[in-house]
Amino acid sequence: MSDLMRPIPFDNFIDWIFAEYKKYGTIFGIREEKFYRNESGACAEMFNEKLATPIGPAAGPNSQLCQNIVAAYLTGSRFVELKTVQKMDGEDLRKCVPRPCINAQDEGYNVEWSTELTVPEALDEYVKAWVALHVVGCELGLSTAAGGAEFNRDFIFNMSVGYDLDGIKSEKIDGFIEGLKDASQTAVFRDAIAYLGANVGRFKNVDAAFVSSISPNVCSSITLSTLHGCPPTEIERIARYLLDEKKLHTYIKCNPTLLGYEYARSTLDAMGYGYLEFDDHHFRHDLQYSDAVVMLRGLQDFAKERGLAFGVKITNTFPVKIGNNELPGEQMYMSGRALYPLSLTVAQRLSKDFGGKLPISYSGGADAFNIADLYSAGINPITVCTTILKPGGYSRLTQLACELEGQQLPNQVDVSALELLVGGMRSNRNHLKSARPVASRKTDSKLGVWDCFKAPCKNGGCPIEQQIPEYLKLVADGKNNEAFEVIAVDNASPAITGVICNHACQSKCTRLDYDTPLAIRAIKREAVLAEQDKFIAKLSAPAVRAEKRVAVVGAGPGGVAAALFLRRNGVDVTVFEKRERPYGIVSYVIPEFRISREMIEKDYELAVKTGVKFEFNKEITDIAALRGDFGFVVLATGAWGKGALNLAQGEDKLVDALAFLEESKAKDCNTQLGKRVAVIGGGDVAMDCARAAKRAPGVEDVTIVYRRTKEFMPAEPEELAEAEADGVNFALLLSPVSYDGQTLTCEQMEFTARDTSGRKGVRGIGVQTALAFDTVICAVGAQVDTGVFTFNGIELNARGGVKVGSGNETSVADVYVAGDAKSGPSTIVAAIADGKAIAADILRKLGLPGDFIKKDLPQDAELLYARKGTLLQPHEGASEGCRCLTCDQLCEICVDVCPNRANIAIVVPGAGTNPRQILHVDGMCNECGNCGIFCPHSGDPYKDKLTLFWTMHDFEDSTNIGFLPLGGGKYKVRTEGKAVLEHNAGDGKLSGEMAAAIAAVQAGYPWLIRQ
Ligand SMILES: Cc1cc2nc3c(=O)[nH]c(=O)nc-3n(C[C@H](O)[C@H](O)[C@H](O)COP(=O)(O)OP(=O)(O)OC[C@H]3O[C@@H](n4cnc5c(N)ncnc54)[C@H](O)[C@@H]3O)c2cc1C
Ligand code: SF4
Ligand code: SF4
Ligand code: SF4
Repeated sequence: MSDLMRPIPFDNFIDWIFAEYKKYGTIFGIREEKFYRNESGACAEMFNEKLATPIGPAAGPNSQLCQNIVAAYLTGSRFVELKTVQKMDGEDLRKCVPRPCINAQDEGYNVEWSTELTVPEALDEYVKAWVALHVVGCELGLSTAAGGAEFNRDFIFNMSVGYDLDGIKSEKIDGFIEGLKDASQTAVFRDAIAYLGANVGRFKNVDAAFVSSISPNVCSSITLSTLHGCPPTEIERIARYLLDEKKLHTYIKCNPTLLGYEYARSTLDAMGYGYLEFDDHHFRHDLQYSDAVVMLRGLQDFAKERGLAFGVKITNTFPVKIGNNELPGEQMYMSGRALYPLSLTVAQRLSKDFGGKLPISYSGGADAFNIADLYSAGINPITVCTTILKPGGYSRLTQLACELEGQQLPNQVDVSALELLVGGMRSNRNHLKSARPVASRKTDSKLGVWDCFKAPCKNGGCPIEQQIPEYLKLVADGKNNEAFEVIAVDNASPAITGVICNHACQSKCTRLDYDTPLAIRAIKREAVLAEQDKFIAKLSAPAVRAEKRVAVVGAGPGGVAAALFLRRNGVDVTVFEKRERPYGIVSYVIPEFRISREMIEKDYELAVKTGVKFEFNKEITDIAALRGDFGFVVLATGAWGKGALNLAQGEDKLVDALAFLEESKAKDCNTQLGKRVAVIGGGDVAMDCARAAKRAPGVEDVTIVYRRTKEFMPAEPEELAEAEADGVNFALLLSPVSYDGQTLTCEQMEFTARDTSGRKGVRGIGVQTALAFDTVICAVGAQVDTGVFTFNGIELNARGGVKVGSGNETSVADVYVAGDAKSGPSTIVAAIADGKAIAADILRKLGLPGDFIKKDLPQDAELLYARKGTLLQPHEGASEGCRCLTCDQLCEICVDVCPNRANIAIVVPGAGTNPRQILHVDGMCNECGNCGIFCPHSGDPYKDKLTLFWTMHDFEDSTNIGFLPLGGGKYKVRTEGKAVLEHNAGDGKLSGEMAAAIAAVQAGYPWLIRQ
């Protein structure tokens, strides 16, 4: 592992491209079906050059290396904004850039800025890429004239320089600018042309005449990037220099700080990004809007006099404080969907002031959902970064290119169209934080060297590991009966969970990083409604195969699950329930407007028909009395104890949440609460209380009182939204102190700095607020009544909960605990998971096999590859499953998201069970960390996957498991156990997987090896 990227010589580079393409139909892992061909052949013009699509990578990680630019071109980029260069480069710059340096989990962040290569190396990379694009475009017919087959250059390279005039005038940067204006005198261009000339025989379409026609004029345009705080006079001087002396079409990158602090703060707050921390100092010190307008007008005239194009690049990234360990350091630069409202507003304001006549090159949260709107408003070109750092990677560009093909570009910016976009942006779902409320999709599993594909929805998301991709596919295929059978294998309460499961699976879904998570719960409900009754009708109780019987205490979801899974596998089970109906909290407390009796009944019927016996109105206190008849006892008694707020006065006047909800449900919401009701708490129970109170006769308003703000509420976003839709009010940053039956006195709170876990604290500010309420409901967390445990000699842990061992067994042998009784208030599916684990443990003790059978449903790999990189709106109904990426059969997210193509999916016959294994190429990686953000395991692909090294220095500088080819069939290897040894093919020193992988690279991917 090393952050040093090693540029690939041009001859190796061309070898690699065409050898990989010939053998696998891919280039740098980009599959042929994602290659973009402008079918219409229509081209726009810019800087007197042709441009087939107005899109490309923004100056940044996706345009740093030659292979990045080729990958971007293949997928449809025709406007390549080369990564910025500045005087400080190479090692000097790398020393200042902490690692990891990119985090594109949601809105993007980075702590890197200009090229990490030396400036001469960057020049070489860009020239190589320029020549390579000609060769690839010609050979593969990707850049052709309208209606023709002949190569017709349709792409533009735009250089980007920073940051001050002295630096730009320095010999190093000047050499770079001149080299890109005319590369004919550079060794890299000459060598590339000479190499191609000597090797035309290996191409079909590239001949000597074509090679000699490749223009050395790589760039005729430049984008100026300046640092925050750069004085306007300096910006203007540089722009004039670039126009006048360098004779380049010039665009100036604008900063979002042009909008002023108040606008940026209020917009980001309104859209849910209130947690972004920044103060007004950049806004005060950066170029001010009115100065910018004057300067831009002057420069526009100056450029016009010289016959050159002039415009603005909107916008640079936005500096914010690193507040939550997103990246190392103190300040990072924000991009992506949260930048969109700021960039869009800068575009709109400048367009308005210039009557639409100021050309705008755009970057700032553009993606497949908004690019057509931006383009049809006259914005062109549009470059992207954050979207292509997410799963799908470069192949997202194909969709962008197709989206714009054939669209008319107005001849100037359409001010009113931009105004409309700005008007709608605060309610544009794709840009609101609430569209992706999840912090990380990563799960706890360790990332192994081999066989890593996983579907995080089922492994890591769903506590009962439901076979989600399988049932999504079956429902999409119209096979609801099979889908329901698959669901029923792992889920004892399909109907209830189909309606009110907290669906943790959806917060791990890979589609969250594309567009919208799969509607996993709704699809389950679809299968339930279609099939559960039929399934139950066919069901009969299996024969009892064990002598020992099981008693379950409590008929909530946890108890029913343990009972059903055991009975299904041949164990006689009786459930004792103290109330008159099954399903505990779900049945007695959760409001009817959230879950109907009919759905609860379906799940009860499922258990009854499986053969579970229920005895209602039977409270169990003495377990010993049961033990004569039952070999095992499962305690699933829930958490029904009153929550405590510890008010200074008036605790006794508070109404307990569970007691209120139980009464409300029993009386069909006809409770007597007075006119004004407060609910204290910010979780799901508080939302249910507020919504139930809203329905009580005579209630005029209901207010949720919470000590933080909405964005920190633990309630599911959907539940919060439902409460808002019901008209519930919110009194935030208030902590209750006392209640006298009429007045709730609260202390006002303020946020404190984040603690080491990154969570913001709150503290009272000593100011009190008095609020009038007729009823105050306390919904701050129910308690487990541990009486039944202590009475029966069951040990508690230090936190006062039940001490459990493996399989949820308590300190008393063969006595188990499940659900809320074990963990405190939790979820239905967590209770079912406990029931499943207990059933498995008891079956093991009884020597009975469990029937938790996994469905084998292989999917067409080509279809899954085709789904990658395409953003889709959710589908209505059964076909929603067609959006599923089936991540356990095809992951390769680390391959998608690596800007440098340093992770490669290779076929390794005989290693593991996945069709492909991941190979990390050390010399192409700069440890940006992006693959680690998106890998669904807890590890980082760039550290944990099998690594191919190119030099001894890199091998020795790393601790990665991997190998260095030494030539002559010899390798230096760091094994899975981290032993370092020399290996010759067939010497038996390595694991089977390692030996197979090395042999596979040597035989199947020889272009990867450099000596
Ligand atoms: C208002 C509210 C809303 C919720 N909404 C959701 C939601 O939308 N999604 C979600 O996943 N989770 C939700 N939950 C949580 C979920 O309901 C619980 O986590 C789940 O019901 C726990 O199941 P359980 O089997 O452990 O306990 P319970 O459902 O509490 O069942 C325990 C059962 O044991 C019985 N019992 C207790 N003591 C004895 C005894 N000594 N002898 C015999 N019987 C006894 C009780 O009568 C009860 O029937 C919500 C909880 C509340 C309070
Ligand atoms: S895309 Fe499909 S398989 Fe992947 S996490 Fe989402 S539901 Fe699961
Ligand atoms: S392998 Fe990972 S860390 Fe390395 S450059 Fe690629 S995404 Fe970044
Ligand atoms: S992201 Fe890469 S390393 Fe992680 S599971 Fe997917 S294929 Fe494996």
